[in-house]
Amino acid sequence: MASTSTDRIDQEEDTETILASGLTTPSRKGWKGTIAVDMDDVLCQTNATIVHMHHELFDTQPPLTLADFKNYLYWMNRGWGTPEETVGMVAKLYQGGLYMRAPPVEGAKEGLHRLKDLGYNLVIITARSENQRSGTEDWIAEYLPDIFDEIHFTGAFQHLEPTREEKEGHVARKAVVSHHKRSKAEIIHKTSSLFLIDDSSENAYDVSISTYPHELETKVLLFGDYPWNAIVHDPSTKTPLEEMTYFQKQEKGLLDEYENLRKEKIEKGWLPKGVERVSNWNKVVEWVAEFDKSRSNTQSNDI
Ligand SMILES: [Mg+2]
Repeated sequence: MASTSTDRIDQEEDTETILASGLTTPSRKGWKGTIAVDMDDVLCQTNATIVHMHHELFDTQPPLTLADFKNYLYWMNRGWGTPEETVGMVAKLYQGGLYMRAPPVEGAKEGLHRLKDLGYNLVIITARSENQRSGTEDWIAEYLPDIFDEIHFTGAFQHLEPTREEKEGHVARKAVVSHHKRSKAEIIHKTSSLFLIDDSSENAYDVSISTYPHELETKVLLFGDYPWNAIVHDPSTKTPLEEMTYFQKQEKGLLDEYENLRKEKIEKGWLPKGVERVSNWNKVVEWVAEFDKSRSNTQSNDI
């Protein structure tokens, strides 16, 4: 029987999702619950660091700025290439020392400690792959030690491998549909996390519609005022223009039309149920403290 590419990706996900025990802090039973945290651009300033390194390595003119990161998938933005070329460029960035060059996101360390002080366990769920584990753990050991109970690698970029022979637009779409997003929801379920803090609007949407049992209204705190998460896409209103790589839009002369559509959607500001925006770590702490208060009130009312 012919298998669709979606089937293949799903099978890959099952085998590639890796649980790494990573740096362990003692798991304290009886705590209030687990909060899952994304890594790139929630804990470490990955894209801001890429802006600098991109200029050093690839010399795109005019040089990239953070504003060019309008989509979570780099090949949909200026300064990259086809999905395959982009994967190669990202590998070069990592070889060039991206791990350790990325500073922590402002307020992350203090914020994480506040969440622990409030009584929550913390786990990282990152779309990085197993072969990035050692660089990732070096970074955490340096900047955010003794905070996390678990680190889960969902191996996102590896998922491009089985779709290489497909057409590039198709490859990009499949990467979005299949990738870390669904497995992030699965890992949230497996770790019984109360919610996920993530900067990807795609992850936020995906987790928001996931069907695992969840006691809370909010499943995701969508982190940061970043250009790549300014829109949360409702798949029922997504147009083919928004599925195109940057080169495809450029070739067809659709860049301006795309910009107009983007502005319109940003203005609409649609958010799925279960997703709330938090612009920085101070806001995360405020949100969780408020949640914690209302939760203990509910619990004491129940007694
Ligand atoms: Mg991220």
